[in-house]
Amino acid sequence: MVQNRYTLCDGVGNPQDWSYTWQISDDVSLSSDCGFCGRNTLRFTYEVTHGPETRWICQHCVSRYPVGGEIDGDVMGPKAARAYAHGLTARLKQQTCSEVIRRVQAAVPDATLEEVVVYFDRNLQLSPLHAAKLFAAMVQAGEETNAGVFEIQTRSNAHQQEFGALPDSERTLVWIALSPQQRRRLASLGFAPEGTLVRRNSGRKPPRVEIQLAAPRIPVLSEVAAIDLTVKDDGNQ
Ligand SMILES: [Zn+2]
Repeated sequence: MVQNRYTLCDGVGNPQDWSYTWQISDDVSLSSDCGFCGRNTLRFTYEVTHGPETRWICQHCVSRYPVGGEIDGDVMGPKAARAYAHGLTARLKQQTCSEVIRRVQAAVPDATLEEVVVYFDRNLQLSPLHAAKLFAAMVQAGEETNAGVFEIQTRSNAHQQEFGALPDSERTLVWIALSPQQRRRLASLGFAPEGTLVRRNSGRKPPRVEIQLAAPRIPVLSEVAAIDLTVKDDGNQ
């Protein structure tokens, strides 16, 4: 059963008539809206055009509607266009994170950040230890991007133990970037930082863990970083 039903906004017409421009926006302040379905508080949106009209659409609509596209004059069907949009999204996500790391590295003279750069480039995610190092430097540098743009590895036992071994202040920093599922899992291992409220409901149902974050959040960036990815960049460094 579908929980939330979104229908097409007025004036969209047939989604097949729209095409991607390959402009993708990574809004790390999560304040973008979808011009097809009206969803809001979005991070990634995709520009589409139909005649003179332009709208930005969400990832759900990218997955759901057969919007086409063109590259260097070659027309792509909806399936190929969707796959291409997903590829661009992965690159943009990586680019946003790399830029944050580079800015922080330039502002904070700390040799251990070099390890973070190498690790991120290799894994496109951060281990809890590397995340703690980076997030502490982000605070020091006054970096405004929400730490939640980074993905933290907590799936393996080794990474869970690595998180648990961090000092409380560092666990609090990393906690901010974790998903509710990740927090529940780590809380169940007794690794929730102090100041987070963990409540278990008693009863016959499986225990539900509720967590409230008492620590201050890192403020988010207010502007939207829109990047044109039509130009191919081989990323020689
Ligand atoms: Zn949408």
